[in-house]
Amino acid sequence: MSNFWDLINIDEYWDKREQFNEDRGDISFYCKDCKEIVETTRPKEKKYTFVCQKCEWTNTVIGTLEGLKSNYRIK
Ligand SMILES: [Zn+2]
Repeated sequence: MSNFWDLINIDEYWDKREQFNEDRGDISFYCKDCKEIVETTRPKEKKYTFVCQKCEWTNTVIGTLEGLKSNYRIK
């Protein structure tokens, strides 16, 4: 199964979520390098780049916690 969150246009996705901080909801980030759910920072507000706080690299995937868990088989 292909990964839905790798395929979507992330710009369009975030444009629909106007209140990023308040409306974060169950959105989570998965780091492909750390292979786990991680916290991220967003160094450039106008860019959709999210930096893993653990390895400080940008190999992250955004999604719902449940979606990420099923896609990456996180326990
Ligand atoms: Zn990481």
